[in-house]
Amino acid sequence: MSHPAASNPVPHASHFVEERILADRASGQHGGRLCTRFPPEPNGYLHIGHAKAICVNFGLALRHGGVCNLRFDDTNPTTEEVEYVESIQKDVRWLGFDWGENLFYASGFFEQIYGFAEELVRKGLAYVCDLSGDDVSRYRGALTAKGKDSPFRSRSAEENLALLRRMRAGEFEEGSRTLRAKIDMASPNFNLRDPVLYRILKKPHHRTASVWCVYPTYDYAHPICDALEGITHSLCTLEFENHRPLYNWVRDNVSVQSKPEQIEFARLNLTYTVLSKRKLLRLVQEQRVSGWDDPRMPTISGLRRRGYTPEAIRALCERVGVAKFNSTVDVVQLENALRDDLNKRAPRAMAVLRPLELVIENYPAGAGEELDAVNNPEDPAAGTRKVPFSARLFIERDDFRADPPKDFFRLGPGREVRLRYAYFVTCTGFDTDPSTGEVIRVRCTYDPSSKGGNSPDGRKVKGTIHWVSAAHALRADVRLYDHLFAAEHPEDVPEGTDFMTNLNPRSLEVVSGAALEPLLASATPGSRWQFERQGYFCADEKDSRPGSPVFHRAVSLKDTWAKVEKRQGGQK
Ligand code: ATP
Ligand code: MG
Repeated sequence: MSHPAASNPVPHASHFVEERILADRASGQHGGRLCTRFPPEPNGYLHIGHAKAICVNFGLALRHGGVCNLRFDDTNPTTEEVEYVESIQKDVRWLGFDWGENLFYASGFFEQIYGFAEELVRKGLAYVCDLSGDDVSRYRGALTAKGKDSPFRSRSAEENLALLRRMRAGEFEEGSRTLRAKIDMASPNFNLRDPVLYRILKKPHHRTASVWCVYPTYDYAHPICDALEGITHSLCTLEFENHRPLYNWVRDNVSVQSKPEQIEFARLNLTYTVLSKRKLLRLVQEQRVSGWDDPRMPTISGLRRRGYTPEAIRALCERVGVAKFNSTVDVVQLENALRDDLNKRAPRAMAVLRPLELVIENYPAGAGEELDAVNNPEDPAAGTRKVPFSARLFIERDDFRADPPKDFFRLGPGREVRLRYAYFVTCTGFDTDPSTGEVIRVRCTYDPSSKGGNSPDGRKVKGTIHWVSAAHALRADVRLYDHLFAAEHPEDVPEGTDFMTNLNPRSLEVVSGAALEPLLASATPGSRWQFERQGYFCADEKDSRPGSPVFHRAVSLKDTWAKVEKRQGGQK
């Protein structure tokens, strides 16, 4: 088993689930074994919330010499697909975890799960109910009112067994009957008011084809799968807390050897983000995004395409920890995890997103040279590279102002700045478009004795700006992203309002005609870079072509310029 995730950049802090597991082991519970599982339903792509569950389950097994299974909880053929099964495996592996031999499908246990249903029927603990779905709900009562017994509740075991077998044989219409547990219609816990164990669904299943036309419910199948796999600690999110009595009821009333324990922990929620497969599916189906792997999606595949690293995602999961109460994590924490990681390893390059021509009047026209640039100041082993320089450059439009305020430390008439790795230049003037007044060219002179950007005489410049030689630039469109949702808590909408109304209309901006340092032409798809002063960018793995990569911004820098702009009243 290879587990790249065995080393996490963030030190591990123990949590209540871990303490419980260690205590169980110390007292010899479960024969001292530890077996966890990650049980996705293959009805969508995994998202960052699942990453947390993956890190918790696989992480515990890794740290304590246990085993973690990957189990597809594939009990509902109407929404499940092979595409999802494949993407889930890819994503778990990419996150750095390996289930080895321990891959399971709930559907692989269908025969046993059904067998236990017959056992419950024989014990008088389950019955076939002919109420319609609506009537089942109606009879179930309300929070304040007890439920009412189904008129079919008192069928004999023999009759129930015969009916159950006929259900299995496909003799009844979809929705006409269910198998229900006989527990307590007056229970204050709704989940115990004779929950449905089996429903008739005449749908082929992606693994069992048309063998079955009855399918077990999640609440019934889950504890059985756990027990059959020998899971010791069945970790799930807090919304399952009041399902635990049912989990235990099933576990204790069917003749399984192993007695797993369900433990609930808080789910991960992020600001400006929706984490629900159902809602993410809508975004895909309604084409609000380009697919499950749209770089704005909180899916693992979206984050991967965006430029996230498995290390950054694991670091986030470690940092947010495992708690007993739900809370919402600031999405900035996710972004910071990526910044921390890429700061250490992303090679630097210069890229001018919104180019403005800069002409150096005293630099010999037609001449050029190659200057040394540092690949990564955080990593001396990354070395240096050559960057072409000439009399005609592009600088960032924002780095020039015709009438700059005093504390604008970039270029303006008469002002001197350092061109990164190149020379000091002083602005001598600028040209405008006569019809629009827009600045179209900035003119300057350079100080030849400042080569490499070093001050020749101890004279200081306050600003350093990046540039790209115009003749050498790789011209490309660059995609910039903002949060997919404009609201901090997109799901908090008044009743009757769709969360989609919180979509951010400006979540994608395509900047056309950016000027990139020429070496970026050979960037491999999926490679990650820091564009100096602009953020971390990734060569898109889908849309890049040899020689013409498509870059998008994974995350901006914690940009000191942003602060300067703020002080200046947000002018840009
Ligand atoms: P969703 O809420 O996105 O529809 P789900 O819970 O229905 O997710 P499953 O496939 O059942 O999706 O989830 C697999 C596992 O991942 C479950 O154990 C579930 O508790 C866990 N999980 C799902 N969402 C989160 C989250 N936001 N934070 C932590 N764990 C999560
Ligand atoms: Mg679920």
